[in-house]
Amino acid sequence: MSTEQRSRAPMVETGARNREPEPRVAAVRRSVLVVEDEEDLARVIRRHIEDIGCQVRIARSGESALEAIARDPYDLVLLDVMLPGIDGLEVCRRLRARHPYLPVVMLTARSSEIDKVLGLETGADDYLTKPFGVQELLARIKAIFRRMDSLAAQHTAPDRIIQAAGCLRINPATREVFLRDHAITLTHREFDLLRHFAENPGRVYTRAQLLDAVWGYSHEGYEHAVNCHINRLRAKIEPDPRAPRLLLTAWGVGYRFTTESIDPA
Ligand code: CA
Repeated sequence: MSTEQRSRAPMVETGARNREPEPRVAAVRRSVLVVEDEEDLARVIRRHIEDIGCQVRIARSGESALEAIARDPYDLVLLDVMLPGIDGLEVCRRLRARHPYLPVVMLTARSSEIDKVLGLETGADDYLTKPFGVQELLARIKAIFRRMDSLAAQHTAPDRIIQAAGCLRINPATREVFLRDHAITLTHREFDLLRHFAENPGRVYTRAQLLDAVWGYSHEGYEHAVNCHINRLRAKIEPDPRAPRLLLTAWGVGYRFTTESIDPA
């Protein structure tokens, strides 16, 4: 194997090759795919994510990222926008088609890309602007995993279907959402956001409160991400997203979910 091939080979856990596969234990080790072509940065990210107990694989191009995702299950994808070949935005679009719930955190060098990253078409859950601090990266990742754990805990509870606005049916156990009888596919974060609103109709939330409740952390300057997710949700659930009837704007404050019964027809 040449040095070039070795450096491109998928990362393998040290010592894993000669051992029998271990049975899955209760404390599941999270698996993270880091898609980043800058080797030094990828290595640093990998080391820090491994330190919080995750298994990490690195993909250095969009193509190899999509191959890795098709081959193995991941709990989270950290995806750089600027990649050789197909870029991170396109990778996100393509993986969303098959994995609507897989959490994707995008790494972007330009804040002007944020709208595109969080847009309906790309469908990322989160972003970090380069350069970012390690603590911020880890806080994001941990928040997503905390969220997944609390959802997993709810799976064991008896199913409780949430009926909202007379037209939405939300099943927290299966993450299915129906508008009337039409199934709607929501990302991880869109689902959490809708559920939070639907469980608290009429209550006004500021962007900071929503970050805290749905993202699991509050980060200054990140409020814009809330607007992007609200727009995405509206595009999926509102009969006319330009004139929202379900997810309403509380001018100068934030957002609230309707208390009325809406006929989306
Ligand atoms: Ca890059």
